[in-house]
Amino acid sequence: MPSLIKQAETYLAERKKWAEAGKPMRSQERIEELFNICKECEHFRSYYCGICGCFINKGTTFNKLAWSSTRCPLEQISKIPKWFEEDDFNPELIEKKKKEGDCGCPKH
Ligand code: SF4
Repeated sequence: MPSLIKQAETYLAERKKWAEAGKPMRSQERIEELFNICKECEHFRSYYCGICGCFINKGTTFNKLAWSSTRCPLEQISKIPKWFEEDDFNPELIEKKKKEGDCGCPKH
């Protein structure tokens, strides 16, 4: 488990990114879909992600999965993320984000 300091840093960075993106939320259906993926992951620790330390559940509060600006953090340990957003594969949206200065990198 990441240290509490690391967890707090990650939370604040993700919250800032989410706020700057206009606080976009995922649908309840998408949250549950992602939760089911996390539940099967070897890094899942009953209520948080063992890589980034963010809370994971099926609700809309204290839940990394509810904010649509978040990504699965496996890239941080050089692995392929287990979930993406459709936007990540849409060439038009990728081009639009690039023009807006967003490279799509999950570390921002
Ligand atoms: S590494 Fe990705 S799939 Fe695994 S628990 Fe964390 S967010 Fe979920």
